Amino acid sequence: MEKRQFRFKKQLFTINGTYNIPGFVICSGFGYAFRTFCCKKCGELFVVDLEGLYHSKSSLTSVFDNKSCPKCNTSLKENLVPYPEHIFYNDALLNNTERIEPECPDDTEILEVYLLE
Ligand SMILES: [Zn+2]
Repeated sequence: MEKRQFRFKKQLFTINGTYNIPGFVICSGFGYAFRTFCCKKCGELFVVDLEGLYHSKSSLTSVFDNKSCPKCNTSLKENLVPYPEHIFYNDALLNNTERIEPECPDDTEILEVYLLE
């Protein structure tokens, strides 16, 4: 599994009364062509290319199969959750119910994230 560069914007969330928890919202593909997930155990981020899935006729679950997290080695199939709907922060997985703003401002940043394919 390799890391690729994607464009993200940083959004600060308030979760369970804690302010300014940073989350990254993907802006590559105008925010629609990619979905982001994180590992429940360690918080490592992953990107799935939805358009690539469509063209290779794969399903979302098939890209999780038989793969393990490069950081903590847990099985991805049971341990991936949508991100930033879930954020790993201070060694805990938080359930983020705040609105995720899809709009991308000018001040985005490039992050290297594992691409699942
Ligand atoms: Zn992990």
